[in-house]
Amino acid sequence: MLAIKNSAKLLLSGSIAGIAIALLVSPSSESLALQNKGLLEDSAFYDSRLDMSTPSIALGEHKPDSASSSIESHQQYEQKTVKIRRGDTLGKLLQRAGIEKGIAYKATTSLCKIFNPKHLKPKQKITLNYAVNNGEKEFISITIEPKIGHRITAKKNESNGFSSFEEHDTLKSQLMRFEGKIRSSLLSTAIEKGVPKSVTYNFAKLFSNIVDFQKDIRSGDSFQIMYEQFVDTNGNNVKIGKILFASLVLRNEKIALYRYADKKGNSDYYDSNGQSVRKALSRRPISGARITSGYGMRRHPILRYKRMHWGIDYAAPRGTPIYAGGDGVVEHAGRKGAYGKYIKIRHNSTYQTAYAHLRRYAKGIRKNKRVKKGQVIGYVGSTGRSTGPHLHYEILKNGRHVNPLRVKIPCGRKLNRKEMKGFSSARMKITRTYTAMASSSMIANRSHIVASNN
Ligand SMILES: [Zn+2]
Repeated sequence: MLAIKNSAKLLLSGSIAGIAIALLVSPSSESLALQNKGLLEDSAFYDSRLDMSTPSIALGEHKPDSASSSIESHQQYEQKTVKIRRGDTLGKLLQRAGIEKGIAYKATTSLCKIFNPKHLKPKQKITLNYAVNNGEKEFISITIEPKIGHRITAKKNESNGFSSFEEHDTLKSQLMRFEGKIRSSLLSTAIEKGVPKSVTYNFAKLFSNIVDFQKDIRSGDSFQIMYEQFVDTNGNNVKIGKILFASLVLRNEKIALYRYADKKGNSDYYDSNGQSVRKALSRRPISGARITSGYGMRRHPILRYKRMHWGIDYAAPRGTPIYAGGDGVVEHAGRKGAYGKYIKIRHNSTYQTAYAHLRRYAKGIRKNKRVKKGQVIGYVGSTGRSTGPHLHYEILKNGRHVNPLRVKIPCGRKLNRKEMKGFSSARMKITRTYTAMASSSMIANRSHIVASNN
């Protein structure tokens, strides 16, 4: 109990500004992975390390948790976790758990004053608490956690009814930092060093528009990453946050990307020059599809004479989602002659993209609707003049068709001079934090050694 309380104190709330967090990480990837593991799984190790390092860096005081050491009576408690099944109601679930109908009714009625049972999801876990007296189990409370860190409980009261209340944990954010030399591939190296898989994939995704992972990365290149992680009040790691900094050193070239929220609050990743790494347009706004017809002159499969094909045909099963090729505004969403069900998006003053033969439009897609790159806008079909389910995709530049596979795809936006000021200071803050975490990690390492000698 004490260990958990103490570890929670080490956490930073909100921003990346803190240096105390540096204790969690170290520059050597080996010990990093170890510490990370320690943090997540072994609170005893984690805590002893913290104790040793506390005098070196102000982390806030430790107060022994007096409440946890005083046990009032011989009352014992038992906890049981049950899972919601499809078609379950709370009442059903409680009765299946062996709780008497009348009590189950009281508990659910009370709970549903603050929790809408429609929000129950299959496989959702529900905690039942019992008091145990002389071997007799008495059901005393039920807790639902609709979201991580948000609990709703119905608890038996003195008058043998139930009262409900809710609790919100404040999740705290802490920073994690990893770096290492790439041996075989970025993915395998990063995972080996202890970077969680999902973070590693997102890291790779960030660079996917600017780095060809097959060709550009060689062994001896290196990576750095700093990301946010959220823990609950018990110090449990509950959620991985955003990557704040990611960099690749490819031979002599360093590409560093920083997460930055502009004045409007839109977050994106920018390189040191304030250039967004997000490509403005996608050449293939659909996944798992193959090209069945390219751009250019061809004999038309239905009309049977030579004709210009103004787009790329991607064959895919009916119903395959189609994504917006870039951020923009829907200019047209409706039937259009041979195109069948058709969507056209205006991305900026220069580019438009068009999507034809759709089976249907995604919910909410209509004229003047603003869409984000990668958002589902419709589904593959075979409407209009079409021989089978496929997406016909066009890119237009200044109103003229261009070959989606050949056009030099414009980069995402570049920050203007005003925004650059804010970006520069955010970037410096990130760099300072990253560096500080490296230098003070020596303390963490030393204390780890002391702790393990105990
Ligand atoms: Zn086509």
